[in-house]
Amino acid sequence: MSQQTIKNLADLLASGKTSSVELCQDYLARIGARNPELNAFITVDPDKTLAEARAADAARAAGSAGPLTGVPVAHKDIFCAEGWLTTCGSRMLHNFVSPYDAHVISQFKAAGMPTLGKTNMDEFAMGSSNETSHFGAVKNPWDVARVPGGSSGGSAACVAAGLAPAATGTDTGGSIRQPAALTGITGLKPTYGVVSRYGMIAFASSLDQAGPMARTAEDCALLLNVMAGFDERDSTSLERENEDYARDLAKPLNGLRIGLPKEFFGAGLTGDTAQAVQAAINEFRKLGATTVEVSLPNSGLSVAAYYVIAPAEASSNLSRFDGVRYGYRTKDYTDLTDMYEKTRAEGFGAEVKRRILIGTYVLSHGYYDAYYIQAQKLRRLIAQDFAKAYEQCDVILGPTAPTTAFKLGEKADDPVQMYLSDIYTIAVNLAGLPGISMPCGFDAQGLPIGLQLIGDYFAEARMLNVAHQYQLATDWHQRTPGGY
Ligand code: GLN
Repeated sequence: MSQQTIKNLADLLASGKTSSVELCQDYLARIGARNPELNAFITVDPDKTLAEARAADAARAAGSAGPLTGVPVAHKDIFCAEGWLTTCGSRMLHNFVSPYDAHVISQFKAAGMPTLGKTNMDEFAMGSSNETSHFGAVKNPWDVARVPGGSSGGSAACVAAGLAPAATGTDTGGSIRQPAALTGITGLKPTYGVVSRYGMIAFASSLDQAGPMARTAEDCALLLNVMAGFDERDSTSLERENEDYARDLAKPLNGLRIGLPKEFFGAGLTGDTAQAVQAAINEFRKLGATTVEVSLPNSGLSVAAYYVIAPAEASSNLSRFDGVRYGYRTKDYTDLTDMYEKTRAEGFGAEVKRRILIGTYVLSHGYYDAYYIQAQKLRRLIAQDFAKAYEQCDVILGPTAPTTAFKLGEKADDPVQMYLSDIYTIAVNLAGLPGISMPCGFDAQGLPIGLQLIGDYFAEARMLNVAHQYQLATDWHQRTPGGY
C-alpha cells in the first residue's frame, strides 16, 4: 500500500476496496514507525486526519465524492492550515496555530483530501538541504546520512519513503524541483500566478509558487487540478479559465521539439548526471521527439540576480515577525525596541538573518541602483532568453541539480556552495515559467538523478504530457529506496 500513486488510491477508493479511514490509518502508522529516523514531519495529528477521512468516506457514501475524495496528502509547513501548528520551519512561529486556511489548503479540503500532517522544511523556505529548519534536518530515505534537498525536503522525503502518497511544496528558486531530484520523485513548479499564494507564508513574493510533489507526472497533473485556480485574495493570482492538466497525458510525442540549452550542458555537468540526462534525451528521440540546441546566455547570472532579489523581498516580508501579534517573543526586555531586537535575534536562524541583512543592504539608499535595479534588469534579460529559445522548441530539457544528494553538513558552512545547488532551477523562477523534475537514473552510489523540463508560460499540460510519456517508457520513477 505504501508506494501507491494517487491515481491507484483514487481507483481503490472508487471501487470500495478501501476507505479513506483505512488509508489514513495505514499512512499514519507508517509515519509513526518511520518518521523518527527521517524527521520529515513537524506535526502529525491523527485525530484531525481521521476526522477528515471519516468526512470523506461519508461524502463517498452519500454519492458526492470527487475524483480524489479520501486520498490523503501531506502539506509543507509553509501553508497556513486552520487549527494546525504552522511553523514555516522557524522558532519564530514555533507556537503559531493558524486561525485560517491557505487557498491551497481550502482547495484540498474542497476536494475531500485529508491532511496527513505538516512537513519539515528549511526555515522560511531558505535553503537547499533542509538543514536550516528549527526542527532539525530531514534525512534522505535513499541514504539517511544525506540531505533530501530543500526547502521542501520534508515533503520530498515523506513521498519518497511512502509515508504519504503526495505532498505540497513551494518553489522560490528550486525548492520543489531540487528536493524532488534528490529523492527520486516527481515535482512540478507551475507558472507564476497559477496557484494562489494566499495563506502561504511569504518568502520572496514575486518568485514563490506552490506545486505538487508525487510519485508520477500523472499524479502531479491530478493534484495541480486541485491546487490551481483564480483567487481574488492574491493580487498576482491569474484570472484564467480552469483547465484539466491531465487532458494531454496520453498524446504521443511525435514532432515534439526539445531545446537543449548549451549553457546547461557545459563543464559543470559531469559524470553520472551527464550520462543519465543524455540517456533520457535518447529515450525522447525514440519516442519521436527531435532536439535542437538553444542558448540561454544570461542564465549563468541567474544565481547572482536571485540572491539580490529574493533577499530584498524576504527582508520586507519578514519584517512582520516582530513578537507583537503572534509567534515567538523574547522573555526579558526593557522596552519596545529591545523587545523587537531580542525577539528577532532569538527567533530567526542564521540563514534567515543572512538574507535579511543582504536584503536590507541591497535595498538601502546608495546601493539600490547598483544591486537591486541591476538584478531586475538581469531578470528581464533572462526571461527574454527563454522567449527566444521557445521560438525554436516546445520544451527545454536539462538536469535539475548539479549533484545528487550530498552528505548532511557537507555544505552547511558554505552558503555559496549551497546556493549553487539551484544553478539549473533559479532562472525558471526569475522568468516565472513552469518546470518539472522527474527521476532519470541513479549515480554509482545508488542515489537518484533528476531530469528537468521547462515549459513556456501555461504549458503545464504539455510538460506533464512529455513527462508522462517518458514515465510510460521508463521505470526510474517506480524505484523506491531500500527498506521503504
Ligand atoms: N535554495 C533556494 C534558496 O535558498 C531556493 C529556495 C526555495 O525555492 N524556496 O533561496
